[in-house]
Amino acid sequence: MPRGKLLGGSSAINGLVWVRGQTLDYDTWAQMGARGWSWQDVAPLFTRIENYEKGGANGRGTAGPLGVSEVPDQNPLYDALFKAAVAAGYKLNPDYNSEDQEGVVKTQASISRGRRMSVAHCYLRPAMSRPNLTVVTEAPTRRLLLEGKRCVGVVYERWGREFEARAGREVILSAGAVATPQLLELSGIGSPDILKRHGIEVRHALPAVGENFRDHINARIAWRVQDKRLSYNHMARGLGAVGQALKYVTTGGGFFSLPSAPMLAFLKTRPELATPDVQMHIVPYAIKDPKTRRLQEFPSMAVACYQLRPESLGSIHIRSPNPDDHPAIRFNFLADAIDQRTMVDGFRMMRRIVEAKPMDALRGEEYSPGRSVASDDEILTFIRGNAHTAYHPIGTCRMGPAGPKTVVDEKLKVHGLEGLRIADASIFPTMPSGNTNAPCIMVGEKAADLIRAAA
Ligand SMILES: Cc1cc2nc3c(=O)[nH]c(=O)nc-3n(C[C@H](O)[C@H](O)[C@H](O)COP(=O)(O)OP(=O)(O)OC[C@H]3O[C@@H](n4cnc5c(N)ncnc54)[C@H](O)[C@@H]3O)c2cc1C
Repeated sequence: MPRGKLLGGSSAINGLVWVRGQTLDYDTWAQMGARGWSWQDVAPLFTRIENYEKGGANGRGTAGPLGVSEVPDQNPLYDALFKAAVAAGYKLNPDYNSEDQEGVVKTQASISRGRRMSVAHCYLRPAMSRPNLTVVTEAPTRRLLLEGKRCVGVVYERWGREFEARAGREVILSAGAVATPQLLELSGIGSPDILKRHGIEVRHALPAVGENFRDHINARIAWRVQDKRLSYNHMARGLGAVGQALKYVTTGGGFFSLPSAPMLAFLKTRPELATPDVQMHIVPYAIKDPKTRRLQEFPSMAVACYQLRPESLGSIHIRSPNPDDHPAIRFNFLADAIDQRTMVDGFRMMRRIVEAKPMDALRGEEYSPGRSVASDDEILTFIRGNAHTAYHPIGTCRMGPAGPKTVVDEKLKVHGLEGLRIADASIFPTMPSGNTNAPCIMVGEKAADLIRAAA
């Protein structure tokens, strides 16, 4: 589970795909008791974030700090894939970040003039000279400081020594869905059973800390491409990479300016569904080895698919009282029968698109997993053995009314404690339908409003 351990967090290393999610996602949060988080409430926050190059229709922002652009790259492979998707019965969509997400699309990316729009670049750097801001780097937080039921600061480490930072008003914890529950548990906030098992004094019992963990599991199919000029594999190595690096430096364009996928699809696996339940990432290259991220040696392309709103729940908990030990991440992918069904159906839909007639002249053999993987059981076994995280961990400090399944209230305050809020992907009650960066930044905007309103 890679995470961005730098200013800007994972937004500084991510794949730059910009997806707000579906209106239903946020209405569901509100229905689950998170008042103030319905689509009507959060849509203006998304608008406030964005500076979208294609203008302000559909509530899209044009004056925000974070530039969003549609992938400018052109490739006959994309044209054929769009035609193939239509031939397979799917629709196109000019703006999947409008209230209608469904369709096959060119990706909108958190990229402006070829530059990554991380939250460090868009929010932190412009505020860096403010007199009331101090940024300390190379300083991992070890635990929160509690006085009774009030959080009064944090303990962090620097140069091998521990320091304290005391809070004037409150502490806002934004360490992400992996490290936030870890820090709470290290501070004695969590399930008493788990804390006692590791010899940590229970300062505040909250059994939901580290539970409700969800992620997207990404299953990929790869094909050979008949015309080698259309596949980008050669652009990531040797002279190809040098040429692309030069192109990026001189024009801001080329392979190195692309998001992780230039085309996406948001589709329904069953016609009776109200909204799409799978997302595909369509790329004109293919990875040879997921561990090294090296690209395939022969011309190829890939389509990856995940279920947008998985039911299966995992957990993230500490393995020891030592803050340097990574927590145990239990994905529990595909535990739920709905998730299994949806992934198998999504897998078949990827094939349906790439095997449609408009791709005949460009498509070569499917070499991974290959056509011999055909039955539901074979496909599911392949997914279980080969699919992996899409890097979207969420939910481990779930927001909602006080109870055994929640950690923060709708104002992001930790239940039962004073002076502590959480603002990151850990508070999502359910998975937003898409990549998770835009919803995380929306949480940041909402947190800013809540903090200002209380000041
Ligand atoms: C490889 C990768 C690709 C991705 N691709 C996409 C994509 O294309 N589109 C998309 O929308 N989303 C993508 N995501 C997901 C998205 O970037 C994240 O969901 C989002 O950035 C998470 O935000 P966050 O604030 O919850 O946590 P993070 O961004 O992870 O921020 C946590 C911060 O806390 C800091 N921190 C953690 N522990 C401590 C500690 N003990 N002391 C001090 N600081 C600490 C970290 O250094 C980091 O700065 C991707 C993620 C990854 C890793």
